[in-house]
Amino acid sequence: MNSIHAFFVLGALLFLAPAAQARLEIVATTPDLSSIASEIAGSHGSVTTLAKPTEDPHFVDAKPSFIVKLNRADAVIEGGAELEIGWLPALLDQSRNPRLAPGAPGRISCAQGISLLQIPATLDRSRGDIHAAGNPHFMTDPHNAKIVAEYIASAFCQLDPKSCDSYRANLGKFTAELESKSAEWEKVLAPFKGQRIVAYHDTWPYFARRFGLNIDLFLEPKPGIPPTPVHLADVVSRMKADHINVILVEPYQNRKTAEAVAADTGAPVVDVAQFPGGVRATEKGYIELMDYLVHSVARALAEGKK
Ligand SMILES: [Zn+2]
Repeated sequence: MNSIHAFFVLGALLFLAPAAQARLEIVATTPDLSSIASEIAGSHGSVTTLAKPTEDPHFVDAKPSFIVKLNRADAVIEGGAELEIGWLPALLDQSRNPRLAPGAPGRISCAQGISLLQIPATLDRSRGDIHAAGNPHFMTDPHNAKIVAEYIASAFCQLDPKSCDSYRANLGKFTAELESKSAEWEKVLAPFKGQRIVAYHDTWPYFARRFGLNIDLFLEPKPGIPPTPVHLADVVSRMKADHINVILVEPYQNRKTAEAVAADTGAPVVDVAQFPGGVRATEKGYIELMDYLVHSVARALAEGKK
């Protein structure tokens, strides 16, 4: 074969290769969504994540490389309910990708199928600027994760009908594991029904509702508003009066503030995250993260009871 022939053969192979193994290029905003998207996509898609697991999903550091990723993507998976409103819309504008436009099949907004908690009766930014459309942290309830997985699978089927059987099979595997784990998690937390927990930010109302806990006192006076000395003093006195023994803090929150409250109340600070990889031993994915959350909260509540 002379070099001209080799050139044409190579050219034909290059031309054929992408078609033979066309994979969906998927961008997910946060690591919980990308974990589930990867489970569903299997070998038919490649998923990249924009936010780091240790980053505040409301305030993600937007890098120019994100625009390139979004420009090439077949689909973007977002939480929605204004979770990413501070950083994603500008990136999407700059990516100039019509496949990701609102209403396009490639725009997968997971809040769609979820009954949101804390939807304000009237739009009132004084409740805090960042939960104005209802609480967007719905993924910490495994039941919501199941709804999201189903929604993502349907979206992938629409984008890539040839691989739909595979997406449905992967969905079946994921939900079967999730359901058996959910039953286990409910048992682990059952002895603590009705217990109260303090959190830095109002991240946990869906987790609390699922497992019968009350996570309703926060170091932030309002979502997104940093703690003030007056507010913290009030939290400390309410923790003492109501015997609240656990403080949840996430990687990007001010642990020193939580430690000061801990020192005043004797309640331990428990490191948690809403994203796989945000705390140790949760890198593998959503189910490992939930496992960690359930067991670390149960352990802290058991300690607090003594
Ligand atoms: Zn929030």
